[in-house]
Amino acid sequence: SKYIVIGAGILGASAAYHLSKEGKDVTVIDRFDKGQATEAGAGIICPWLTNRKNEDWFKLVTEGAAYYPRLIKDLNGLGIKDIGYDQVGAINIFDTDEKLDQKYKIAKERQQQFPEMGKVSKLSSKEAQELFPLLSDEFGAIHISGGARISGKNIRNALLLATEKNGAKLLKDNAKLTANKTGNVSVHVDGKTYPSDKVIITAGVWAEELLNQLGFNLSISSEKAQILHLSMPEQKVKVWPVVMAPFGQYMLSLTPDRILIGTTQDTNDTTSLSTVKGVESILDKALHIAPGIKNATYMETKVGFRPFFKKAIPAIGYLPGYSNILFANGLGASGLTSGPYIGKELACLAVENKTELNLDSFTLEHVVSKR
Ligand code: FAD
Repeated sequence: SKYIVIGAGILGASAAYHLSKEGKDVTVIDRFDKGQATEAGAGIICPWLTNRKNEDWFKLVTEGAAYYPRLIKDLNGLGIKDIGYDQVGAINIFDTDEKLDQKYKIAKERQQQFPEMGKVSKLSSKEAQELFPLLSDEFGAIHISGGARISGKNIRNALLLATEKNGAKLLKDNAKLTANKTGNVSVHVDGKTYPSDKVIITAGVWAEELLNQLGFNLSISSEKAQILHLSMPEQKVKVWPVVMAPFGQYMLSLTPDRILIGTTQDTNDTTSLSTVKGVESILDKALHIAPGIKNATYMETKVGFRPFFKKAIPAIGYLPGYSNILFANGLGASGLTSGPYIGKELACLAVENKTELNLDSFTLEHVVSKR
């Protein structure tokens, strides 16, 4: 059987890798849109302290975090190193003791269920500052030793490299779809038609275009996020933990010398350019939390588009009426965490193996409709 994956952000790259690992004939097509979420993503892997109540989503992200060490080991086994995954720990900082104590209690409870969290401890503001020296001294914190960071770009590249090593073809181009009356689907790239037995659509915020070509509507929304890149070569960014701050702000270091500060959230702006307003709002909050960034060098602001469905729950499954088209999307703000795992599950679905998760809570019903 021939499998074609359209869209190679973290989700498509993972699906392709897991199919290729099974020895399948895989072709990956990606046109690297400006604003690919994976390329811009911050890379915090620490889902256990979330305030979100949705259990289905929580299962995806916690399984996703637990899957990383296994995946990295497999990729290392293929001779692929420098993937940029580091379990440097994470600290969640708080501006009041009350909030800190409340979250600490929850963290301790969750630790019983999720050994991947590692050690969970409470830090004084001084101790937090010792771990992340740029912080102000006003924030107590919870430290989760199992928290990690990943470079979205590196893990995507690593997955694609592994996929190629396993014999797959990669095309850097635009894919189009047609379906005939009997439901047979063809993939077209640059005037050439590629035969396939199964097509997997993992096209991020651009997926609506492809579904329209098959006569479907897709109710997906795109959230523009800007993220600041600073550089601090003289600091030991290598060992700093990820910082999760109030007001949805976060900060992390990526080796060799980067500090990333995120993000803005904007569902109205579809341009892939950074804005003064965006940079100002990020810096404003960041300087309050971590005055030490004043000494950093400003490098760039990256822009990415997060794909969201209603209720921020991903959709994963076969397109209604088609046994040869699979679709997954809507990974939202946690796709670097859940993406590799969901990609593995997608590959299972594609080869008609039993998935680890019950995917009934992630059906396409609410997001896809006939045009
Ligand atoms: P994408 O990465 O957007 O990939 C989709 C790909 O499909 C693109 O390359 C596009 O060019 C291609 N494509 C579309 N249509 C076609 C076509 N017709 N032909 C060919 N190719 C096509 N998640 C976390 O877990 N932790 C974080 O700390 C985190 N931080 C983030 C910070 C920012 C600034 C952003 C933007 C996101 C962040 N995320 C984070 C979320 C995460 O990055 C996304 O959820 C995830 O990357 C989505 O991956 P994807 O593969 O679905 O989509």
